[in-house]
Amino acid sequence: MTLEQLHRADIPRPILDVLHQLRERGFAVFLVGGCVRDILRGVAPKDFDVASSALPQEVQGAFKKVIPTGIQHGTVTVVIGGNHVEVTTFRSEGDYLDGRRPSSVTFERDITRDLSRRDFTINAMAYDPIGRELVDPFGGMADLQAKLIRCVRSPLERFSEDGLRPLRAVRFAAVLGFSLDPATRDAIPPTLPIFKKVALERVREEFVKLLLSPRAELGLTLLQETGLLEVFLPELAGAGEDAARLARAAAQAAPAEVEIRLAALLADLVRGAPARDIALRLKFPTKTADTLGVLTEHAFLENRTGDSDPSLRRVLAQVGPALLEPLLAAAKARVEVRQPDRLPAFLGLQDRLRALLAAKPPLTTKELALSGKDIMTTLGIGPSPQVGEATRFLLEAVLDDPTLNESERLKGLLKTWQAGKGA
Ligand code: ATP
Ligand code: MG
Repeated sequence: MTLEQLHRADIPRPILDVLHQLRERGFAVFLVGGCVRDILRGVAPKDFDVASSALPQEVQGAFKKVIPTGIQHGTVTVVIGGNHVEVTTFRSEGDYLDGRRPSSVTFERDITRDLSRRDFTINAMAYDPIGRELVDPFGGMADLQAKLIRCVRSPLERFSEDGLRPLRAVRFAAVLGFSLDPATRDAIPPTLPIFKKVALERVREEFVKLLLSPRAELGLTLLQETGLLEVFLPELAGAGEDAARLARAAAQAAPAEVEIRLAALLADLVRGAPARDIALRLKFPTKTADTLGVLTEHAFLENRTGDSDPSLRRVLAQVGPALLEPLLAAAKARVEVRQPDRLPAFLGLQDRLRALLAAKPPLTTKELALSGKDIMTTLGIGPSPQVGEATRFLLEAVLDDPTLNESERLKGLLKTWQAGKGA
C-alpha cells in the first residue's frame, strides 16, 4: 500500500478533465472518500467523487453543461463529453441537533475541514492526481494498512451526531474485512439511542451492503455484539445463540442476492407473512417482501425429499417458476449449514424439481386447456361461484397429472365432477 498506487491509478479521462479545468481556474480540487481508499487497497473504485474549493456557482461557471444536482449541499453534476461527474464543494457541517442531519452546511476553501466531517479515517483521505498529493490528516493510510475502522476524531461525538455511523462502521468492517478500533467499537452501545432515531431506509441500505458482502457472517456477529441488531432486527437478535449462529452461517453460505440471503437468514426463525412484515418494516420494496414471504414459507425442502411428483408440482405452483432457483439456493444454504448429511438427498430433490419445471406443466388456472367460458358452456351454467370451484378442481387434476390438460379430457372430467356433485 503505497503512494505509488495512487500515482499509477487508472483515473477515467472525464474525471481528469474536470480536475484539470478547475485547477486551471485556480481552485483546489481532489478525489475524495471511497475512491482514494479503494485505489490504496488495490481495488478498482466503483465511482470517483470529486471535491473542490470552487463554490457551486464557480463550478457552474467553469463548464458548458452543469446539472444543479444538490446545490444547497454543494453538489453539481458536470456533463463532459457525455459523461457525468459529480463535484462537491468542500464543506463543514453545523451541529447535529436530531442525530440525523446537520443543522447547517458551510462551504469551505480548505480540504482538511471537509475531511474532518467524514466518518472514518480510511474514508477521510483526499488525493490530487495532478499535483500528486495525498491529504491524510487523520492517519487513514496507516489504518488501511492495519485494517482498522476508526472514527475521525471522537467516536462518541461522531456517533452522537449521526446515528447511522455505528452501522456504517460495522458495514465497512464486513465489506473490507477490517476490525473496529476498540474506541470506535466501545462508542456503539452508549450511542444506540441515537441509532434508534435513524430512518429505516438508511439502516436498510447499509444492512444490505453488509448482508451481501463476502463477510456477512462476521458483520452479522458484530451487529449482534454491539447491540445494533436488536434495534432493527430483534427477531434475529433475540434468537438463541445456536439458532442465531446457524442463521448467520446460512446467510453466508447463500449466493449474494438480497432475497436469497435474507431468506436463508430468517427462514428458521420467521416464516411466510411475518417474514414479509419484517421486510416491509425495513422499507424493502413490496416485491422483495413478497418474495421473502414465499421463500421463507417454502424453504424447508429437505423435508420433502420423499414427496411424489404431484406434491412437488404443487410446490412449483405455489412458489412460481421464477422463484424456483432462489428457493433452491436459500434451501441449499440452510441444509449445508444445518444438516450437511442430508445434502445428497436435497440435491436429488433439486434435480427432480428442475426436471418437473422443465417439462412445463400447467401450474395456474390460466394455463388450463379450458377457459372460464369453456367451463361455463360445458357445465351449462352462467357466472357463479361454481365456476371458480370447477376451475380449482381442474387445476388440482392437472397438477396430479399434467397429461390431462387437453380440452376434451378436461370436459370429460368436468361432466363427471358435475354428476358427482348432483348425486
Ligand atoms: P462505497 O464504496 O460503499 O460507496 P463510500 O466510501 O463511497 O463507500 P458512501 O456511503 O458512498 O461510501 O459515502 C461517500 C463518502 O462520504 C464516504 O467515504 C465518507 O467520506 C462520506 N460519508 C458518507 N456517509 C457519511 C456519514 N454518515 N457521516 C460522515 N461521512 C460520511
Ligand atoms: Mg460511494
